[in-house]
Order: sequence, then structure tokens, then C-alpha cells
Amino acid sequence: MKHYEPGQTWKGARVTVMGLGLFGGGVGAARFAVQQGAHVTVTDLRPAEQLAESLDALRGLPIRYVLGRHEEPDFEGADIVIASPAVPLQSPFLDRARNAGAHLTTEILLFAERCRGNVIAVTGSNGKTTTTSLIGAILSLHDTRTVTGGNLGRSLLEIVDQIAPGDPVVLELSSFQLEWLGPAHWYPHVAVITNLTPNHLDRHRTFASYVEAKRQIVAYQPAEAHAVLNARDENVRAMTSATSAHVHWFDSADPVQDGTWLEKGDIVCSIGGRAHHVMPASEVPLPGAHNLENVLAAVAATEIMGVQVPAIRKAVGSFRPVEHRLELVRTVNGVRYFNDSIATTPESAICALRAFPERTLLLIAGGYDKKIPFDSLGAEIAERAAALITIGTTSDKIRKAAVRAGFPEERIFPAGTLETAVQTAFSLAQPGQSVSLSPACASYDQFRNFEERGRMFKKLVLELPENPVSRRDRRGKMNNSS
Ligand code: ADP
Repeated sequence: MKHYEPGQTWKGARVTVMGLGLFGGGVGAARFAVQQGAHVTVTDLRPAEQLAESLDALRGLPIRYVLGRHEEPDFEGADIVIASPAVPLQSPFLDRARNAGAHLTTEILLFAERCRGNVIAVTGSNGKTTTTSLIGAILSLHDTRTVTGGNLGRSLLEIVDQIAPGDPVVLELSSFQLEWLGPAHWYPHVAVITNLTPNHLDRHRTFASYVEAKRQIVAYQPAEAHAVLNARDENVRAMTSATSAHVHWFDSADPVQDGTWLEKGDIVCSIGGRAHHVMPASEVPLPGAHNLENVLAAVAATEIMGVQVPAIRKAVGSFRPVEHRLELVRTVNGVRYFNDSIATTPESAICALRAFPERTLLLIAGGYDKKIPFDSLGAEIAERAAALITIGTTSDKIRKAAVRAGFPEERIFPAGTLETAVQTAFSLAQPGQSVSLSPACASYDQFRNFEERGRMFKKLVLELPENPVSRRDRRGKMNNSS
């Protein structure tokens, strides 16, 4: 099999980018390959109309496209195949390329092999983007050379040469990306694992193989590297035996010897010595206990990087929720509408339910079926939700899980589509209540991705009529006439 070392020329090499996607990785890979002087083919199973933004970003570059399908010669005849992390490693097309002697890689591995910066990498089942963005925001205040990217929707591959030795680089890493990084024995200077719960089992098959992929973030760290681990999560705790790195903890309840924790409403930190107060938790502008955990992880990681408390406090205090993450869209007739479209797992929808007082949240949930169980979500709905409005393929599974847990059928409203769901929420919600699109599922059954789903939700919410008086009248009249 061919092997291309970093620094080796790609001039004239035949490069196939497999899976262009819409998250930036495919675009970054294709641009990089063109920059390197390769003959580039981009192939994706999706047709051109579903890839419009990415194709626009590549317009004018000398690229051959094979869209709506893959063709064997593009794999058998390639010198290098850059596969999207969404492509299963066992893909028969990758097998063909492997058997024909091609060098197989992925965008994040190309970046990691070339990056001379000081990498802080974040993984976990939930909270990756928020924690990565928090770390990026804190470090940027401390060191303006900081760059943030990875699974966040921005490829850093094209700018890898501009990153100088020691520049802080904050990377969000998915389990799929880690499956590529592990075999290369790559490791970050600081690794953060937010939490580990069953996710992506359609691809990883078992929870054990998913955990194994996540383990790669700490597996090759030497003693001078650092791992920041969630002390409250037993699967994350088990990672201590998988790493030689210096382990620090974040704990949402009890003090830890080395790390961060909450104490009497304050964020407290002790990295390598004296425990000190960082800031009151009330200054954290993000809703929910889960976000405090993300902040604890970010504080630990940035103190390890030498950031001082005032900079941390300032950056966290002025941090704004990232789009689609419990993002307040609008208040209509006294009802707050939140776009939490990124909540693609039951745990994240549970976090949303816990972020609001009991029985005040109308939850819109459902979507693509990743084959993960909804029992814990059902139990949380039964305990906390005011109403459940379901959409998409998993509607019935979620409804049944809620009913099994004792949630009354009459508070469940199968809506099918997001349009109907928003209308249903609008007609049901009382002033003081909130509505959140926290689907607990991916979006692929009805949308291109979670961003499209979130923007559609925002559009629908922005179109709702603000007319409390006539609504009350209408209801009043109906009541009078019945
Ligand atoms: P990720 O990048 O891992 O998908 P995000 O930071 O984008 O995570 O947050 C996605 C959703 O996951 C949030 O809207 C929230 O509902 C939930 N979430 C965020 N942080 C946590 C956490 N620490 N624990 C559990 N769920 C979380």
C-alpha cells in the first residue's frame, strides 16, 4: 500500500475525496488536495442539489465530480482516498482502494499529521461543541493565535501551515474521526471527555466499540500530556486505565483533588496545587446543569493551559449559546421557543427537560432512527414534560416510551411534521411555558441535517402571529359556545 508522509508531494497524484458532505470537512479536504497539485475527484452518494453549499464553496477549482453515486475506478485507480469520517471503515469502496494499494486517510488525520500547534481536543457523547467553543473562547482571550475547529463545521486543514509551533489549537473530535486518529497513534496535549452514553449505534453496532473509538483520544498520550475526565460518568472514569496522561477531573458535585468542581454555587478549581474560586455559577450565561459541566471541563482544560482566572471569568461570562443549542428564538404570547435541534441523543433532550422547571416544557421530539433506546427519555418526559409533540420516524417509539413510563396519552400529540408540531405547540402552550425542539434524534428522515431542521424551526416560530388578545378571545368564545 502506498504511504504519503506529511511533506511528501501530491503533485500529479490521483486523489479521490469520498463524501463531500455539508460540514466543511469534505470541502477542506478537496481544497487541500487541489492546493497540493493533485488531480482531484470528489464523489458523494448525494446528488448535486443536496450538496449545494459545499459545491458553491469549491466553485472554480479544477475538480471532477461524481455525484449521486460512487464509481469503482475512482477507488481502484486512486493514489490517495480521503474518506469522510461518516463513511464506515468497512465500506466496500474503501476495501477496493485498499486492495489496489491506495493511501487511505481522512481530513482530520491529514490535519493532525501536519499540525505543529498545541492541541486541546474534546470528545464525548454530548456537549462537545459547547465545551470546544468555551475552551476556544477562553483561550482566544489569553492567546490571540488560538484556532478552533475539527468536527465543528470548519476545516483547519487549509490553514495548517499557518499554525506555528505551540499555537493553541482547539479541536472537537467525533468517534468517527477518532477511529482514524487512533491507528496513527496520534495524541493531543490536553484531551477532554465530556461524557459517554450510547450514541451512533447504527454505525458502531455496540456501545463497547463506540467507547473503544472514544478511548483513542487518551490512548497514546504520554505522561506529560493531560486528560480532563468527567468524574460523575463511570464510562469516562474507566478511561484512567487507558491513558498514561496526567488525569484531572471535573465533578458537578463533590470536590476533587485535581480539577474543577461546584461548591456552594461557585466554580472551584485546583490544578496542580491550591484550590481557588473561579466564578459564581450564576454568572454562567448558559441554561441547564449540563452546561455547568461543560464549563467545569473548559475551566480545567484552560487552567492546564495556563490561563488566569480573570480571563476565564470574562470569557465564560460573555459566552453566548452556539446556534441550535437551546437557543432562544423568540417569545410569543408569553411562551418562549427554543431551538435545540442539535439535541440528537436522548441524553441531550433529557438535559433540555431538566433545564426548565417541571411541567413547563412542551417538548418537540422525534426524527431519524439511530436504533438507540428511548426508555430514559420516556421516564424524564413522564416526570417533567408538560406535553410531548412527536415528529419523524421515531414518533411512535418515543410516544410508547413515555406512555410506558406513565405519561398520560392525552398529553401526547403526534404531529408528523415540524410545521404541524409548531402549530400544535402554539395552540397548546400557556404563557410562562416554553417550547423546545430537542428531538433526541438525528434529522435525516426529514431534513438534510440538524442545521436545516433548526433553521426551519426558527422560520416557523418567527412566522407565528403575536396576537395574545385575539387568541384569548378565540379561546374564550369557544369556551362560551360549548
Ligand atoms: P455535541 O457537540 O456533543 O453534540 P453540543 O455542545 O452541541 O454537543 O450540545 C448538544 C446538545 O447536547 C445540547 O443542546 C444539550 O441538549 C446537550 N448537552 C450539551 N452539553 C451536555 C452535557 N454536558 N451533558 C449532556 N448533554 C449535554
